[in-house]
Amino acid sequence: MLCVECGKREAKYEGLCEECFLKKVKFTDLPQHLDLVVCPHCHSVKFGGVWERVSMEEAISRIVDKNIEFIHDCEGYDLDIVHGEIEGEFDVEVRVLVKYGDLETTETHIVKFDLKYESCPRCNRYFGNYFEAILQLRGMRENEYNEVLEYTHGLISRHARKNENLFLTKEVKKKEGWDLYLSDKREAKNIARELVRRYGAELKESPQIAGRKDGKDVYRVTYSVRLPAYRIGDVVNVGGEYYLVTDVGERYVHGVCVRSGKKKSFDSHRHSIDVVVTRDDIEEAMVIYSRNREAQIIDRNNVIIDVVTNFDVNSGDNVRIFRVDESVYVLPDINT
Ligand SMILES: [Zn+2]
Ligand SMILES: [Zn+2]
Repeated sequence: MLCVECGKREAKYEGLCEECFLKKVKFTDLPQHLDLVVCPHCHSVKFGGVWERVSMEEAISRIVDKNIEFIHDCEGYDLDIVHGEIEGEFDVEVRVLVKYGDLETTETHIVKFDLKYESCPRCNRYFGNYFEAILQLRGMRENEYNEVLEYTHGLISRHARKNENLFLTKEVKKKEGWDLYLSDKREAKNIARELVRRYGAELKESPQIAGRKDGKDVYRVTYSVRLPAYRIGDVVNVGGEYYLVTDVGERYVHGVCVRSGKKKSFDSHRHSIDVVVTRDDIEEAMVIYSRNREAQIIDRNNVIIDVVTNFDVNSGDNVRIFRVDESVYVLPDINT
């Protein structure tokens, strides 16, 4: 059978020869104008209502792919996108390789992309000083501010890597500590919990209604993390006995009894744990004489002191000591 159009060549497709078929049939269509909405701050791209972090090239491919229309069925296609400089309004050449039976043909479309800038919700929040939670750091010693703050910043960046809705909006130094304003209250709580575990701190949570949105109350939460009075390395008094603190955590304190050298654990909610000497006030001294449980030590002011100890000490040893009232105690030799 011959082509109904030209009557010369053999009809192969829908009564037409290959040449006439390709002349008559268009497989694809693409709008001549398409929008590309980009956040000017973080360069996220808006797809429908959803913002995603993708490269411009990938964004264009996806938008083209979504808008391509097939006006004649085919068995498969490939996209080849040629884009030049991407600035303001720009043209993109889209080549569509279409497969139809044993036929392959390329259709070319020129699409004008309009680059539109719109701040994404995350950046709106970021630049609008948005916050959902205040993380209060309390109970720090004067010389601990930097360490605790640095550790907290580390936690925030670690969580922010997994959740880009989390950021530190601002931080304010207060007489009693630091206030950190965070954009995400669930993450703020996770961070507060981690601080509790690390420092054996107490956590208090107080929600406040900040307003209403879509008929619901919007809450802000203050998470107050209060470090306990004691630290690892301090000497504490529990029930009249002195302990060197070796570990602290959520609700527990591990210590070594200064008199007996025995390890003990305390529930921080059930015992009163009073600091006797902080780790910074523990002194070093040298043993100059020892016999059984009695020893003589010389302190850093060259004062010779008689002490009684349950631990093996030998002359020449360096020991750590602390003083309470008139008495001097030797600490068990434990790394804290
Ligand atoms: Zn023909
Ligand atoms: Zn953005």
